[in-house]
Amino acid sequence: MNRFYVTTPIYYVNDVPHIGHAYTTIAADVLARHHRQLGEEVFFLTGTDEHGNPAARAARKRGITPMEHANEMVVKFKELVKRVNATNDFFIRTTDPEHILAVQLFIQQLYDKGDIYLKSYSGLYCSSCEAFYSEKELVAGKCPDHGTVPETVEEENYFFRLSAYQQQLLDYYDSHSDFVRPATRFNEARSFIEQGLEDISISRATLEWGIPVPWDESQVVYVWVDALLNYITALRYAKKDEDLVPKFWPADYHLMAKDILKFHAVIWPALLMASGYELPRHLFVHGYLLLGGQKMSKTRGNVLDPFEIINRYGVDPFRFYCFREVAFGQDGVISVEGFESRYNSELANDLGNLVSRTVAMIAKYNQALVPQPPAGSEDFSEEVQRLAADTVKALEEVDLTTCLERIWQFVRSLNKYVEESAPWKLAKEDAGRNQLNNVLYNLVEGLRISAILLHPFMPTATCEILRRLGHASDISALARANAVWGGAKAGARVESDVPLFPKLAT
Ligand SMILES: [Zn+2]
Repeated sequence: MNRFYVTTPIYYVNDVPHIGHAYTTIAADVLARHHRQLGEEVFFLTGTDEHGNPAARAARKRGITPMEHANEMVVKFKELVKRVNATNDFFIRTTDPEHILAVQLFIQQLYDKGDIYLKSYSGLYCSSCEAFYSEKELVAGKCPDHGTVPETVEEENYFFRLSAYQQQLLDYYDSHSDFVRPATRFNEARSFIEQGLEDISISRATLEWGIPVPWDESQVVYVWVDALLNYITALRYAKKDEDLVPKFWPADYHLMAKDILKFHAVIWPALLMASGYELPRHLFVHGYLLLGGQKMSKTRGNVLDPFEIINRYGVDPFRFYCFREVAFGQDGVISVEGFESRYNSELANDLGNLVSRTVAMIAKYNQALVPQPPAGSEDFSEEVQRLAADTVKALEEVDLTTCLERIWQFVRSLNKYVEESAPWKLAKEDAGRNQLNNVLYNLVEGLRISAILLHPFMPTATCEILRRLGHASDISALARANAVWGGAKAGARVESDVPLFPKLAT
């Protein structure tokens, strides 16, 4: 049996979940559902990154311990996962004792091998925070919390010999041209490596919130190393009494936003090479959803609350809109107006209305039973075969937007087919009966196949479409293998109901 392992980054608990988290989680869920439809054994991992200075700082601000803070934030992230209807197989927390132990074993092994050594580290230190800051974290050169200029302080840290892996990384990139997708991100990562790699500090000596370095408990593991390792450590304990590493590693896809590319495309593969693990098959790097042309962030105060959108419009339209509006992999602008316009034209009109019309015509002309198409009648089998192949290929490359566009071309062609074949005219002609049955059957069949293909994007609405067309909507009915022409059963009873996507007043 083929296997598929997909991950989101683990989400950092210094802030509440926002639309960016929802975006990556839904993308991973689309892939997970698609691969389950293909009959593969799937493992879909998400979770939270809970250590490090910013998380500790957020806790201190609130007057609680970092663990208390993390426990509260995790509830919100788990809620987000549920609300976007994600089917993750496990939710990892980097404060899980099993993760902590596995991280310690991992870096102990690198230390024993000689890939980790002690060296003095110089950084920008805020004494009020008792923490180092990178220049990027400072606001106008000052501590974001205290508004004071940090001092340059030296401390002894453990360093990982990243530089030793430069050539090996370049060789790997050159022999795996699809390691990072899209191609622009591949080039970006490769050129970063080519410019030369320096060894990196992988521990902190200040009293930070993190995993103790096993051979020197005065230090904690740098939060990024701790976080990256989750992709492997989770497999060790996600399932009771079974180590899933042999089954699911290497991961097929790590999904992420572009801001964390360097960690995943350079440091992570080097750590894996050093410890003898295979590298993940692909990284997919997506862009940002922009609102008003700016990256959404709390500090800019233009956060679009995914919970609010889902409450108002439902989760399926939100999942659809995310990948329909903005080409997955690129930055793009989203807006409430854009959402409403696409919802009305594509979900309410193109799809929802087609389902209603088809069901209504079958109720009117054939006692609500899917008619038997006449032998040798015209159908869409070749078109559907091409469509099925194109959509599988698009999802293989995580091109979610092209996949949706292809399906939508088909949905539009079905709408055109209704207009051109005019069943209401055929119903009035005695000689039109066979042709009428053929048209009605083709509409049911076209919608059944559209529902199977759209299922990863809109899991609830597509099951509802199948139900209304008189079809089962269980996992076997949804299998991709059923996306071939001729599966609709004549004699099945269709069900009228309220509009699938009620039109929004704009
Ligand atoms: Zn400070």
